[in-house]
Amino acid sequence: MAGFGLELDDEQKAVRDWIHGFAADVMRPAAAEWDEREEFPWPVVQEAAKIGLYSLDFYAKQFFDPTGLGIPVAIEELFWGDAGLGLAITGTGLAAVGVLTNGTDEQIGTWIPQMYGDPDDVKVAAFCSSEPDAGSDVSAMRTRAAYDEAKDEWVLNGTKTWATNGGIANVHVVVAVVEPGLGARGHASFIIPPGTEGLSQGQKFKKHGIRASHTAEVVLDGVRVPGHCLLGGKEKLDERLARAREGKKKGGERGGNAAMATFEASRPAVAAQAVGIARAAYEIALDYATTRVQFGRPIIDNQGVAFQLADMRTRIDAARLLVWRASAMAATGKPFTSAEGSMSKLYAGETAKTVTAQAMQILGGNGYTREYPVERMHRDAAIYTIFEGTSEIQRLVIARAVSGVQVR
Ligand SMILES: Cc1cc2nc3c(=O)[nH]c(=O)nc-3n(C[C@H](O)[C@H](O)[C@H](O)COP(=O)(O)OP(=O)(O)OC[C@H]3O[C@@H](n4cnc5c(N)ncnc54)[C@H](O)[C@@H]3O)c2cc1C
Repeated sequence: MAGFGLELDDEQKAVRDWIHGFAADVMRPAAAEWDEREEFPWPVVQEAAKIGLYSLDFYAKQFFDPTGLGIPVAIEELFWGDAGLGLAITGTGLAAVGVLTNGTDEQIGTWIPQMYGDPDDVKVAAFCSSEPDAGSDVSAMRTRAAYDEAKDEWVLNGTKTWATNGGIANVHVVVAVVEPGLGARGHASFIIPPGTEGLSQGQKFKKHGIRASHTAEVVLDGVRVPGHCLLGGKEKLDERLARAREGKKKGGERGGNAAMATFEASRPAVAAQAVGIARAAYEIALDYATTRVQFGRPIIDNQGVAFQLADMRTRIDAARLLVWRASAMAATGKPFTSAEGSMSKLYAGETAKTVTAQAMQILGGNGYTREYPVERMHRDAAIYTIFEGTSEIQRLVIARAVSGVQVR
């Protein structure tokens, strides 16, 4: 892992501090309001766009940081600010990664800029894989994409669910079945360009946490897209399907199927979100424990409280190390032979849930009220053991990778 180090360079520190300033000055003061409103926070995303924080240029620069730490460091700071707003700012990234990992250079150049728009006309994008009957089990997907050779068009029909930015996105990336007999290997990803007829938003979900992030169903009713909207192109798809038909395995290679390639690449970044939330809650709890006096002494004087804080900090640092390792491996082209990306997501997600619960406990009654942000952080953290693969699915992936056994 040449180049891996725990010390950030001056440029990385400057980016971290710049985002921290935005998180502290813009996101934190706005977080409770958008959580209550449960609406997409366009003004906050616009502010991020105005300073270049919500932009293709910024994410591309962090994505291609050769150490791999650009993205996790930036994301941890944003989610330290607030998870709901953080997801509103970074949610487009999942669709962008979907195009980056599966698309041709031309598709990358055409569609990713349209996902972000520009500071005067901000846009978002959505990545739509999950369906009502296909959550953890992506092979149960039903949305069909049929090729109309005469017109060189793909026709998509089906219902996607849980799509972050679904229906409000300028560009949707949709995973669909192109050859039903092949399970997850018979899937492909498609760009649905802005304004395409037949795509509509279904139910918008009212959620437990990350409420500023928009989550909705996306209905595809006879959606027709040009042939060039198939990510990676028809020739590559035909080759991949032929290989799958012959039963040739792609092993642990990236790109086994379109959705999995996207999740594989995005897991450490999602784990970094969880680290940011956990750190925010821990800092508030530490501060509270040193100032709250009971029995004539600050509550941190009690081992029962201080040891909890010690455990919280240890878990957060361990989670960050797993995230940085996976990110550095991805940047240097090392395959996740032991599912290191999943390890980072599993541990960081569980850490966010545990640490925010501990923080709430340390704040006592105050922790349970909306007067203190820890209550919101605890609700926000709960999603991190569910989306981008539940904790159980991460364990399944890790167990299979380390054992070679198709554990069920
Ligand atoms: C707020 C939010 C945002 C989301 N954003 C997106 C998005 O942008 N795009 C997208 O495509 N999807 C998105 N999702 C979907 C998310 O990835 C799924 O919810 C997740 O993969 C779990 O699927 P499910 O909800 O159908 O649960 P299920 O798969 O039904 O799982 C239910 C329970 O069973 C367990 N389980 C299932 N199978 C196994 C097994 N083999 N072994 C052990 N346990 C098992 C699970 O771990 C879980 O505890 C989002 C979801 C939410 C809630």
